[in-house]
Amino acid sequence: MEIACLDLEGVLLPEIWIEFANASGIDELRVTTRDIPDYDELMQLRLSILDNHGLGIREIQDVIAGLSPLEGAADFLDWLRARFQVVILSDTFYQFAGPLMAQLGNPTLLCHNLEVNDQGRVTGYRLRQADPKRQAVIALKSLYYRTIAAGDSYNDTAMLEEAHAGILFCPPQRVIDEFPQYPVANNYREFQAEFLRASNRNLDP
Ligand SMILES: [Mg+2]
Repeated sequence: MEIACLDLEGVLLPEIWIEFANASGIDELRVTTRDIPDYDELMQLRLSILDNHGLGIREIQDVIAGLSPLEGAADFLDWLRARFQVVILSDTFYQFAGPLMAQLGNPTLLCHNLEVNDQGRVTGYRLRQADPKRQAVIALKSLYYRTIAAGDSYNDTAMLEEAHAGILFCPPQRVIDEFPQYPVANNYREFQAEFLRASNRNLDP
């Protein structure tokens, strides 16, 4: 049995925090791990910015509901799900991705949780587990699945390494340079071809 482990942001969805910053007009929310490498520090800053702007989970989800998956993403995912079991492994939060997952047909998603109080205020966050993408692939391998992992950036390289086969989708040049062992797909057509190539079955294109 084969299972495809797919990253979400940069593969099927735009970067949600960046899009949220654009849609809400809150420029301070453009900070990323490139600006603040410590993830916990970055998240605490993001949560305090949301607080300062009086944004609770309802307001956030209203903004996110206005966003869309990347062009062609839903069709690509339909194609993939017709040929592979698929699980999405992401470092986003269920409360963020939820409104967008509906536009992708609600595929299986393993990601993190925001902590929200009764008034809808976001009070914290809870990571699913440490090294979550690699651990998910290890778990699927323990179920005797052959795993094909695909993502666009550094936070995917652990699962690509752990999987039986790995594919990069529209990665930044420095990721291509650092991980030359993985094939690169630059659009969904090439992505399909790489999945067919990575499979050990004879699939119809
Ligand atoms: Mg990504």
